[in-house]
Amino acid sequence: MFYILLSTFLISLIAFLGALTLFLKEKLLDKILLILVAFSAGALIGGAFLHLIPEAISEIGSSETDLLKIFLLVILGFCVFFILEQFIRWHHHHTVHCEDCPKIAPFSYLILISDAVHNFIDGLIIAASFIIAFPVGVVTALAVALHEIPQEIGDYGVLVYGGFKKIKALFLNFLSAITVVFGGIIGFLLSEKIGQSIVFLLPFAAGHFIYISATDLIPEIKHRASDKKSIIHFSVFLFGIFLMLLLKILI
Ligand SMILES: [Zn+2]
Repeated sequence: MFYILLSTFLISLIAFLGALTLFLKEKLLDKILLILVAFSAGALIGGAFLHLIPEAISEIGSSETDLLKIFLLVILGFCVFFILEQFIRWHHHHTVHCEDCPKIAPFSYLILISDAVHNFIDGLIIAASFIIAFPVGVVTALAVALHEIPQEIGDYGVLVYGGFKKIKALFLNFLSAITVVFGGIIGFLLSEKIGQSIVFLLPFAAGHFIYISATDLIPEIKHRASDKKSIIHFSVFLFGIFLMLLLKILI
């Protein structure tokens, strides 16, 4: 429980990183963000395929029906976030400036709501992972934190662009992020009720990570860069996967 609370609370603080946009030059921040996006895209793929899915298989089983169950849950995790983003017709921007962002505040509220839901589910996932095994918890919390950083900074930029005052945007962004702590607590309580079944959240989490990496993060770095930058971004992406492999060996 302690680790669930600690990690989810730290992750909710990431919302305040949006304030960086006040201090850093837009160009520099953009550069840092794209590197972070590439790194986090790799870490999510590595987290899903090297940690969550293998752990799910070793916990649930590897018979044909078990595998079918596991991969259906992976697809479910993928689809839930697909719907979540499709429903509000919003695509996360991981850069500070966004020319095609709608300038109206209602859209900014939608972003806050979808973020709150997203972060709540992330909290559930972290709780489930820590309950199943400490190393899985660490890896999941790390993967969540990594994809939160570019997302929260990007969201903050969008909120400010949507017309919120800077302080208010920061506060609202934090409110939508604190749901990760609630998710963590609910996940913990849920595990006491449903016991071992909590393990089914692992493949679901894997589907979520694959979705975010493939549809949110990778497109951000795919089209916008020169050849040289593309090579850097791809290397950083590989490094994200490598980090997860390293964690697999070390913990
Ligand atoms: Zn997430």
